Amino acid sequence: MSSVRRVMVRTYGCQMNVHDSEKITNLLQHHGYQPTDELEDADLLIINTCSIREKAENQLYSDVGRLRAWKQQRPGRLLAVAGCVAQQAGDAVLKRFGHVDFVFGTHNLRLVPSMAAAALQGERQTRIDETGSLDRFDLPERHPEFETLTPGRAFVTVMEGCDMFCSFCIVPTTRGREISRPASDIISEVEALAARGVREVTLLGQTVNAYGRHDLRRKEARKARGAVRDEAETVAFAELLGRIDAIPGIERIRYKSPHPIFFDEALIRAHGELRSLCPHVHLPLQSGSDTVLKRMRRRYGQAEFLALVEALRAARPDIAISTDLIVGFPGETDADFRDTLSVMRRAAFVDSYAFKYSPRPGTAAADFADIVPGEVAQARLEQLQNLQRELTLTAHRARVGETTQVLVEGASRRGGRQLSGRDPYQRVVNFEVSDAALAAPGSLQSVKLLEATPHSLIGLLAVEAPDHGPGRELRRSVKTVGGSADELIRIGGVPN
Ligand code: SF4
Repeated sequence: MSSVRRVMVRTYGCQMNVHDSEKITNLLQHHGYQPTDELEDADLLIINTCSIREKAENQLYSDVGRLRAWKQQRPGRLLAVAGCVAQQAGDAVLKRFGHVDFVFGTHNLRLVPSMAAAALQGERQTRIDETGSLDRFDLPERHPEFETLTPGRAFVTVMEGCDMFCSFCIVPTTRGREISRPASDIISEVEALAARGVREVTLLGQTVNAYGRHDLRRKEARKARGAVRDEAETVAFAELLGRIDAIPGIERIRYKSPHPIFFDEALIRAHGELRSLCPHVHLPLQSGSDTVLKRMRRRYGQAEFLALVEALRAARPDIAISTDLIVGFPGETDADFRDTLSVMRRAAFVDSYAFKYSPRPGTAAADFADIVPGEVAQARLEQLQNLQRELTLTAHRARVGETTQVLVEGASRRGGRQLSGRDPYQRVVNFEVSDAALAAPGSLQSVKLLEATPHSLIGLLAVEAPDHGPGRELRRSVKTVGGSADELIRIGGVPN
């Protein structure tokens, strides 16, 4: 066995989970582990689970079952289960799978190094205690060798947990009550990231724009009582965005996922005022029917949602809005579903993540009657996806001819010499380049958009020089909508 131990974290679910996996890897790096993407090389495999959908949970159990042989192949290998399923199932995972060494929940990331060390001594344990303390945010800085999944971009946790208890959602159980990080800690983290060349930060939280609300309310109450004690400071979410916007080097700010009811005037205004706040909001609608929204306990109706969309567009006319949708929620009628389609059209969503409802044990909706038959939900899902394809294509076509700034992620899935990245509107942009070294991952490139598809935009490096260093010109043949043409292109210097 080599003396360096290698860790692989396999992640299911949302960006919060992706970021938790980064934190786990980073922590273990500080304890001498090296990350690997190869299962065969791994000495420690951590499965970071998701319980939002039944499918993800079932997938976990079949995954864990198959890993028995992997574990037995080499002495000293460890298998751990983390994340939302771990938080919910706890010891049951250890009981069901004798080859799992330890289980830890969403509040216990900090314990991973000590649990791994104990497991090597044969100790099997579960840690899923919920903590309401700020200690959970107290993690070491990114390891010098730590690389974010995409160079130039990073996730930053600003709050965790959720107090909303939507009737279909298990998150308040798996992630616990809302707790916000002090603004000064967030700012320090973003400054450190900027110093390492990160240009885009995505602020994360289950209801990210609820950031600080409980602390601010408590502070007001203290002020009213004349008390002066100052706790770890949080600020209103819009103010936090403003402070991050002022950090040199940060060129893009995103946030995910906001709840529609926590958009105040300052946050809406920020979209028109802050230099680096991206013109994109992921705004979960879930359903367009007032009746269904009420049963979902979403605390807004169709009219409020559409008014918010209008206000955001008034503040930032080119803003792109994407959403989450659930079809086949218990009691959803054809008329309710038509309301969802109608709101989709009126809001002109640029994208949506749509799912068929599946009951999650432990949620209020799991006991609801009026189950929508599977084939009806499936037909609605397909209808909704068809509409979304039309809306996306319309939005993409309207942008052909524009020049946009792309943060390069790497090689395009389309193959060839194409690179891929995201523009400020969070759209995937693929563009061809004669030499990939000219547009390194993490660099920002000006790309002229030439073609629209329902999934992405296709373009080429723009004639205009990017704003980071000297470029150079070359002539090459490019594919256009109508065939191909020779174009003089200017390629900017690669800063990273
Ligand atoms: S706001 Fe609702 S859907 Fe979002 S995490 Fe909280 S309970 Fe779940």
